[in-house]
Amino acid sequence: MTGDDYLAVLDHARANGYAIPAVNCTMSPIVNACLEAAKKANSPMIIQFSNGGGAYMAGKGLKNEADQKAAVMGCVAGALHVRALAEFYGVPVILHTDHCSKALLPWFDGLLEANEEYFAKHGEPLFSSHMLDLSEESIEENMEISAKYLKRMAAINCFLEVEIGITGGEEDGVDNTDANPEDLYSKPEEIHQVYKALNPVAPGMFSIAAAFGNVHGVYSPGNVKLTPPILEKGQAYIKEKEGLDTDKPVYFVFHGGSGSSREDIREAIGYGVIKMNIDTDTQWSFWDGVKDYVADKKDYLQGQIGNPDGPEKPNKKYYDPRMWLREAETYTVDRLYAAYEDLNAVDALSK
Ligand SMILES: [Zn+2]
Repeated sequence: MTGDDYLAVLDHARANGYAIPAVNCTMSPIVNACLEAAKKANSPMIIQFSNGGGAYMAGKGLKNEADQKAAVMGCVAGALHVRALAEFYGVPVILHTDHCSKALLPWFDGLLEANEEYFAKHGEPLFSSHMLDLSEESIEENMEISAKYLKRMAAINCFLEVEIGITGGEEDGVDNTDANPEDLYSKPEEIHQVYKALNPVAPGMFSIAAAFGNVHGVYSPGNVKLTPPILEKGQAYIKEKEGLDTDKPVYFVFHGGSGSSREDIREAIGYGVIKMNIDTDTQWSFWDGVKDYVADKKDYLQGQIGNPDGPEKPNKKYYDPRMWLREAETYTVDRLYAAYEDLNAVDALSK
C-alpha cells in the first residue's frame, strides 16, 4: 500500500483503535512468517528492513561499503519479494525501512533513487515509507534535513517517519543503554516542532517516533518507565497551538515494543500510536522454534545416516532446512498473532 491507500490504512487503524505491527525482517522465512501471521489475523502488516537487515538480505558475502550499495540492494530485493507475494495473502502490506542516522544517509539516498525509478515505471514508490532518525542531531538540524527529504518523498507519494528524543536500549548496532534519562521523554513543544516543520511540506505524510520511555530490546524491569501520557500531551498541545478540531493531529510510532505490557500498548494506541515495532521478540520466537526442534529431534540430527530407528536410516527429512526453519516460522507466526491481540488488531479488516 502506498500514498492515499497507505494513509487510508493508518486512518482506519486510528479510527478503530488499533495499531499495526512492524517487524524487522532479515530473510525470506521471516517475511513469509509476517505475511502468514497477517493473513491469520486478517489484519494489515508492516514489513521493514533495517540497514543491517538489508545488508543481510543482500548476503553477507557482499561487503556493504560506504556507499551502502549492498544495504540498498538487499532492501530492494526484500521489497520485490514482498510485492511478488503480498496479494496472494489477501491483506494490506506496508513496506518500510527502519532507523537511518546521518552517517547512513547514502543508504537513504539509494532507497529514494530506487523508489523514484519504480515510480517512473509503475506510478507508485517501491516502498510505502521510510524512517529517518536524526534524533542524535539537534532538533533544528533534524527537522531541516527531514523536511528536505519529505519534499522529495512527497513527490512520489512516499511517507516519512522521523524520530525525536532517544529510544533507550540497543538495536542494530546503535547503543543508547547509557542515555541521559531526560532524553528518553519528549516534550510537547518538541512534538509540535515536528508538526510545524513537516506538515506544511506534505500534510499528514509523516509520523513521529517520540520518546516516552520506550526501550529497544527486552531487559529485566529497570529504571526507565514507559509513560504513554507524553503522547497525549503532545497531541493536545498541537491541537491547541494550531487551533485544530481533531484530538489526534499526528501519527505516533512506538519503537521498542518488545516486552511491553498490553495495558501500556493499548494506552499508547489511545493517544494516536498506529504502528508498533517488534524486533527482539520475533528474533527470540524464531530461535525458540529452532531450539525446540533440535531438542525434540536431537537423535535424528547427529549425522546424515543413523538414528534410533536403525543404524542405516537416513536423516535427510530431519535436517532439510525447510523442516527446522518451518518451526522457526510457526513460532514467529504465533508470536505475531499475540502481537495483533495486544495491538487490538485481530480481524482489523472486518472493522
Ligand atoms: Zn526503533
